[in-house]
Amino acid sequence: MHAEPDALESDHRTVETMGRTIMARLARYADDLPSAPAGRFGEADAAVRRMRRPPAEDGAELEALLDAFEDAAAHGANPASPGYYAYFPSGGLVSSALADAFAQVYNRFTAVADLAPALVAMEHGVLRWLAARFGLPEEAGGLVTTGASLATLTALVAARHDRLGEDFARGTLYVTEHTHYCIAKAARIAGLPPSAVRVVPTRRLRMDAAAAARMIEDDRAAGLRPFLLVGTAGTTSTGTVDPLDDLAGLAARERLWFHVDAAYGGGLQLTARGRARLAGIDRADSIVVDPHKSLFLQYGTGVLLVRDAAVLPAAHADGGDYLQDLETVEQLPDYGNLGPELTREFRGLRLWLPLHLHGVAAFRRALDEKLDLAELVHRRLANDPLFELPWKPDLSVVVFRLHGTDELNRRLLERINATRRVFLSSTKVEGRFFLRINPMSHRTHLSDVQKALATIKECAQQALDSQYAAPG
Ligand SMILES: *Cc1c(COP(=O)(O)O)cnc(C)c1O
Repeated sequence: MHAEPDALESDHRTVETMGRTIMARLARYADDLPSAPAGRFGEADAAVRRMRRPPAEDGAELEALLDAFEDAAAHGANPASPGYYAYFPSGGLVSSALADAFAQVYNRFTAVADLAPALVAMEHGVLRWLAARFGLPEEAGGLVTTGASLATLTALVAARHDRLGEDFARGTLYVTEHTHYCIAKAARIAGLPPSAVRVVPTRRLRMDAAAAARMIEDDRAAGLRPFLLVGTAGTTSTGTVDPLDDLAGLAARERLWFHVDAAYGGGLQLTARGRARLAGIDRADSIVVDPHKSLFLQYGTGVLLVRDAAVLPAAHADGGDYLQDLETVEQLPDYGNLGPELTREFRGLRLWLPLHLHGVAAFRRALDEKLDLAELVHRRLANDPLFELPWKPDLSVVVFRLHGTDELNRRLLERINATRRVFLSSTKVEGRFFLRINPMSHRTHLSDVQKALATIKECAQQALDSQYAAPG
């Protein structure tokens, strides 16, 4: 027997010292964040080499290891920075991250209600509350996943099972070119051929409901089995909301499952403007929301809501003799039966704690502020004759470009991101290159947006000047 103390044990002193060391660094990080670069690229080679070294046989000092993490995190994009407007900023509420750490130290098994009933009730309570925000009925249910992709797969398998049964070879589903690819990916994983994913034409970036109706009719006539209509509440490229109420009506008439991908837009349902723009979402059979997008949480948190909780275990539940000791708990879901995952961390507290701690109004105010900021960005850029803005934002994403070539706009994006003060991304809409700005971080406020607009203007002037200065 070894007489040495067990390094893997954690006594009072270890927990306290380790906690204090980590907390001191996090507090310093929080102090520095407002002025932290939004992105740092092209300097990572040495760090990449350092970070790959294997673990030491006899361990190392915690401080040195945390140094390594900070060194590694200094490269690439910083979605926690107030200057980050690319893709979907995930400010990452510290309260949520610490809730996670708290829950993880307890490490309870919440895939089965019997083993942690009251913890499962915490998660269940958040999901029921969210479902009610979307106007879903009492029988609604849901699941917290790692993100919209997993939530979508879970929903698509439930829809397939509910509408097509076991023989789904001729099933078809309806999306647009602006639908996130996680739908097609989920269809592929669920065993549907690529030809099952039917792309409906759009009008002003929105699904054309009449065209969808015609396609469904034609497909039925051709012997196919339409089963799923997908509306998007905030497309990834432009934040456009499909005509959800019209699509809900179409789905009801055709007895299709109506899925709404609100991965990005869903959080805005807490605001009056968001509810108005997402009108019709209450008629969905399933809704996907990413709290790591519009509820400011850390990456790794997606939510699936379903109108009828029973559809999830119907499609996903299974069992094994090794689980024979477990009882079903009245009124509580066994999360391991609702989707592809069995074992998972307790994901409830990362949602429960911030919502209860800060209160719902704090989220609503922050989201309203983001909608105001997006309106301001749109107004300012649209009033500047240098820029072209063909679409008014439905939510918080604004797309714009300089009058001129795609190449000029690509150079503008490079210039903006090279400042490290602002980080934007781009997309292609109707075949043309657009810059994309999404003021959606809880850390981004009016003064940040004003600075970002000044940076964009300055870089636009430079890009135009260098274009004229360029030979040829
Ligand atoms: C981001 C996004 C997704 C994918 O979400 P993940 O959480 O990254 O899996 C799906 N749909 C829409 C509309 C999105 O914006």
